[in-house]
Amino acid sequence: MRQRRVELVEQVEPVEPSICIDCSMCCDGTMYRTVDIEAGEDIAPLQAAAVAFTVEAELTSFLQPCSAFCHGSCSIYDGRPSVCRKYRCALLRRVDAGEVAYDEARKLIANATAIRDRVRHELERLVQPQEPLALDGLYKPMFARWESATDRAAMKKAQSRLILDITALRVLLSRYFEPRDSESHKAEETKNLATKFIDFHVIDFHGQR
Ligand code: SF4
Ligand code: SF4
Repeated sequence: MRQRRVELVEQVEPVEPSICIDCSMCCDGTMYRTVDIEAGEDIAPLQAAAVAFTVEAELTSFLQPCSAFCHGSCSIYDGRPSVCRKYRCALLRRVDAGEVAYDEARKLIANATAIRDRVRHELERLVQPQEPLALDGLYKPMFARWESATDRAAMKKAQSRLILDITALRVLLSRYFEPRDSESHKAEETKNLATKFIDFHVIDFHGQR
């Protein structure tokens, strides 16, 4: 009996939980402003979750932060669109391929989400948006404010932590998370604005503007 119990224990492989727990950067507006839906998709579950849509050149997209994302998970998980079912960020792919260990991935996510939280908190404090916005929606008014500031040096000094965090977040997203081949999830808008933001301050720092 004891021998049988040992055999059973040895047969059961420990199953690691998903690396996505406590991340959500592909749903919460950190990585993307919009997600494109496939033609013919049943959007009733998204509509029921009060998700906002845009239609451009016959392409329907929904806005992030996704309003179906509640209390750390997808509230329409079984009815989520096929693009969400198929989506896998670069880190998740590397974990699945055995190139990055689970613990290493969790450390990267903990690091990135801690920076994300600081960036979002500070941008929301400064911008005071009337509704939840993706990061690019917060970058836009902040960038306009910085561009028109009369005393850029003082503003830069006061917000140096924010600038460093935006830079660190951009590096982490680009290096570890953004897949290069996703047709539904496009990082370009958020990426371009953050890069513009960083360039602006680097150039400003060297007194060339
Ligand atoms: S960004 Fe990657 S790790 Fe994070 S929730 Fe999305 S798929 Fe999972
Ligand atoms: S529908 Fe679900 S999986 Fe898709 S973006 Fe929204 S919260 Fe994330």
